[in-house]
Amino acid sequence: MTEPVRTRYAPSPTGIPHVGNIRTALFDWLLARHFGGQFILRIEDTDRQRYDPRAVDAIMESLRWLGLDWDEGPDVGGPHAPYVESERLDMYKAAAGDLIARGHAYRCYCSPERLEQVRAEQQRRKEPPKYDRHCRDLSDAEARERAELGTKPVVRFKTPLADVTRFHDEIRGEIEFDNATLDDFIILKSDGYPTYHLAHIVDDHDMRITHVLRGDEWVSSAPRHLLIYQALGWTPPKIAHLPIILGPDKSKLSKRHGATSALEYRDRGYLPDAMFNFLGLLGWSLDDKTVVISREEFVRNFDLSRVVRNPAIFDVEKLDWLNGVYIRETPDDRLAELLAERLEQDLPASAPRPIDRDIARKATPLVKERIKRLDEAVAMMDFFFWDELHYSREELLAKAFRDEPAKASEALRRVLDALEPL
Ligand code: GLU
Ligand code: ZN
Repeated sequence: MTEPVRTRYAPSPTGIPHVGNIRTALFDWLLARHFGGQFILRIEDTDRQRYDPRAVDAIMESLRWLGLDWDEGPDVGGPHAPYVESERLDMYKAAAGDLIARGHAYRCYCSPERLEQVRAEQQRRKEPPKYDRHCRDLSDAEARERAELGTKPVVRFKTPLADVTRFHDEIRGEIEFDNATLDDFIILKSDGYPTYHLAHIVDDHDMRITHVLRGDEWVSSAPRHLLIYQALGWTPPKIAHLPIILGPDKSKLSKRHGATSALEYRDRGYLPDAMFNFLGLLGWSLDDKTVVISREEFVRNFDLSRVVRNPAIFDVEKLDWLNGVYIRETPDDRLAELLAERLEQDLPASAPRPIDRDIARKATPLVKERIKRLDEAVAMMDFFFWDELHYSREELLAKAFRDEPAKASEALRRVLDALEPL
């Protein structure tokens, strides 16, 4: 019997999750659902400096909004609980101890000042910054001496000095790294917290993860991870680095291109199904031409073989278009309710509430064909619900007439004349 597919979304709670990051969650979810496996949510909060207390809620809210339900996670628990890394410190400590005992890691007592000196020296010689392996071969006596001085050590991985590390990426194929380019990186910090490199391996192994999907900014770290797997004697999961997401101008997606978090898209009035469809096409395709794809079709057809290596372009115009398609597919009653809720949220405080649902149902067909985002509801529909709209003289008069009222009344008179026979 083959093992069930188990994927995980493992965000670091450092802020409101970026849409690109949520694309990873979506692909993880799709892979698990396609194979009838499990999708796991794990919070990677070992970087205490960058921890943002609002982030965990925002992560869960983003997933819920898109309908990405998780089978195991911090709130629902599961057989490998806890699912928050800061509650699993003993496991990382044990793994680091195991690596030390087997000669694959060592304690480093170097002070920040010494490391700074090494770095400055390397910079002067125009060499890449790299730990100089000063503590790699300390004798037991030397190590004891330093420990007695009260220095809290970090634990570093003993990277092989020669040979290459190879691995197979499910999307990019064979990848090879020269071990000589890697340094003895930290796996356990002096505060007892692990680094990402160690923590995610211990967790992925313990949680029986079969496929690791992550952004391609992690490719260069992968050889370190393979070396840790080897040193611990564990079989690594399948690894896939997803293509980077760029803006239409081919630069890395950022604030310049508009909203960056999934929740901002929700607040701008995109429907979750449209966003789901849009994100699902950032790097994956059904057949190179189909754009409107339902959730069920995604689940039925998704696998890694159709994920591409080249960058995916985040095209907001396409998203707007897709959102229009999903709005038109929404049954009138449902859309009327969404629009009414949106109006209640966006109309000025002085407008009447609740919005009259009967009027909303009658008005909906009038905007349904044109509206692209729910946040356009106020501009398109406010007058149905609120007769106290006050238009300023400026809003009523075309620019050309503003300073020549006589011309304006002349124009109106002509309009009336033209309308008279009707
Ligand atoms: N915590 C890492 C991140 O948020 C996870 C990377 C991974 O999926 O392994 O980027
Ligand atoms: Zn050292």
